[in-house]
Amino acid sequence: MVARIIPVDSFDLIVFGGTGDLARRKILPALFKRFCGGQMPGESRLIGVARRELDDLGYRDFVRSALSEFAGEAAFDTVAVNAFCDMLHYVSVDARGDRGWQALGEMMIPDKVRAFYYSVGPSVFSDLSERLHKYGLVDEQTRIVVEKPFGHDLDTARALNRELARHFDETQIYRIDHYLGKETVQNLMAVRFGNMLFEPLWNAQYIDHIQITVAETVGVSGRGEYYEKAGAMRDMVQNHLMQLLCLIAMEPPSFFEPNAVRDEKLKVIRALDSVQPHHLVRGQYTAADGFNSYREDVDNPRSKTESFVALKCHLNNWRWAGTPFYLRTGKRLNEQDSEITVVFKDTPHSIFGPEAGRHRNELTIQLQPDEGITLGVTIKEPGQGGMRLMDVPLDMSFAETLGPDAHTPDAYERLIMDVIRGNQTLFMRNDEVEAAWAWTDPIIRGWEARGDVPKPYDSFSAGPDDAALLMRRDGREWRGITH
Ligand code: NAD
Repeated sequence: MVARIIPVDSFDLIVFGGTGDLARRKILPALFKRFCGGQMPGESRLIGVARRELDDLGYRDFVRSALSEFAGEAAFDTVAVNAFCDMLHYVSVDARGDRGWQALGEMMIPDKVRAFYYSVGPSVFSDLSERLHKYGLVDEQTRIVVEKPFGHDLDTARALNRELARHFDETQIYRIDHYLGKETVQNLMAVRFGNMLFEPLWNAQYIDHIQITVAETVGVSGRGEYYEKAGAMRDMVQNHLMQLLCLIAMEPPSFFEPNAVRDEKLKVIRALDSVQPHHLVRGQYTAADGFNSYREDVDNPRSKTESFVALKCHLNNWRWAGTPFYLRTGKRLNEQDSEITVVFKDTPHSIFGPEAGRHRNELTIQLQPDEGITLGVTIKEPGQGGMRLMDVPLDMSFAETLGPDAHTPDAYERLIMDVIRGNQTLFMRNDEVEAAWAWTDPIIRGWEARGDVPKPYDSFSAGPDDAALLMRRDGREWRGITH
């Protein structure tokens, strides 16, 4: 099955930080793939902006090498690469000064969608926004895309929101969380709200618990300076895991429309109870053969920053009262694995007796490395005497279901096209971000006040044993990576 292409009008995407790591690895390859998919009409332009002195030809060479490294097989199509490069331009600008702004302003075309991607650190956002206005680059068709980290805590997030609000209307601001751009995350909404099957069971009466794991094998080397100030709670839980939690727990919105969806997500965050200290586990990876410890990676032998968090939390509302949500995320774990598992309760009475074993339905939403949704269904084990049961997966792996020719757009591809279409559904609103910080801040402040030191865990393990205990104390086990 070949994915349907929704046409868009030609547009200009201006990438501030166009020579940076994020542009090379994600933004440029994503745009190239949308170009190959026919979604960058002829008059569209991609304008790279950064401090480095380059001309259009120099930037095209830079982009060619980025594509050959990060765009996969699509980059072998030299005709497509050349045609894409013809759409590329470059302007050298100092975001904090006045150099280059006039030239950039002269390139703007009225009445054309104009998206400014802030692929630069948040300390530059304010200067950028101010100069966009000063040099007359903002019109009604303008939108801006901002990357994480969106603040360091509630106060800084509020200040950043206030600063952006001085220059732009909220409808022009796209706060990107690439987890929301994943096909499966959106499919989670399709599965929940497009089928009669799940929603009646989607509550504390039928669901035993929900767990969310985002495990990475990589450490923090190369990002040590940033990570040491952030830690797993700020870097992953406050944004990505919270967003996944919102989508799994929210009430059905009236429409699949930006503010209706974001209103429901906000209610979930506001319903989160504060987390008990004994429901929190922090960890820090130790050295392994040929691999540094966390403390070596960040060059701080006394670091108290966590590279792993596991926690149990509850939602104070009718739907979820009594259902625990377990979240965990960490670096240098034994597998790259992002998944959400919804574990349903036991049947109220087993008619098959004890030899049938204990079986539960589980819905697994796999986000990484492969995307797909699996529903575990209990059936009779074939050929055995008596009635022994087994669980088999009803598998909705996208690669298999949609066929080998289906290109599932990467999260950045989808999200950038949503910016161009002016659809904010999958972007975080200012109040969502602030509510998420309001929940995480007391947890982090609690650690700081107690001088909490994260538990060491072996690199390439499943994290500290306390994370397994968090589950086992409740008679449960983590799915996905195991201890
Ligand atoms: P980077 O350091 O590799 O690149 C920064 C870019 O910004 C460069 O092109 C640089 O020329 C430009 N820049 C910086 N100051 C400037 C100024 N005063 N005027 C003009 N240009 C200026 O950074 P990155 O890794 O690409 O990250 C960019 C942003 O995206 C950061 O906020 C980062 O936290 C965020 N982010 C990055 C990733 C990633 O995978 N790299 C992932 C998520 C979020």
